[in-house]
Amino acid sequence: MLPDWDALPHLQRTDGSHRGEVYRGDMNAVVIDDVTAMRAALVEARLASTHGDVPVGAVVVRNGQVIASAGNQREQLGDPTAHAEMQVLRLAAQHVGTWRLDDCTLYVTLEPCVMCAGAIINARVGTVVFGAPDLKAGAIGSLYNVAVDPRLNHEAVVRQGVLAEECGLLLQKFFSERRP
Ligand SMILES: [Zn+2]
Repeated sequence: MLPDWDALPHLQRTDGSHRGEVYRGDMNAVVIDDVTAMRAALVEARLASTHGDVPVGAVVVRNGQVIASAGNQREQLGDPTAHAEMQVLRLAAQHVGTWRLDDCTLYVTLEPCVMCAGAIINARVGTVVFGAPDLKAGAIGSLYNVAVDPRLNHEAVVRQGVLAEECGLLLQKFFSERRP
């Protein structure tokens, strides 16, 4: 099931492609709010489940525009590090032209794990917004709080619970269909 791209102009690019690549060239000047950005991340999450990946999606917003979007690709790529956040941070850094993403906001449908929270700190991401908490593996509040730890050299602003129910239900549905 492909999303209705016409309803998501902020994920549409001038070359007609939509995702999984670096955003280049002209971008529509769309100023985006938390809910709209999380809806874009949810599109990526749903796409991830179409290739058997746990439905987690992420986008990076800078200056009110989505500059990168990606879903979980662990199964698709056979890569243990291919979580949605890792993929989208790499794309965002390519877009910005530097590893420093301090003026960026990362939106992700599920609370980041230890690896991804570590990547968020290493990328100096300014703000992280996540949907559903991950009580079993979350590293931004649930098990650890890697994003806000004064012992580390960077702290991110964190907002959570944006479309949490929708983000969580998508995961529940995925796992219930796989384990009948
Ligand atoms: Zn992760």
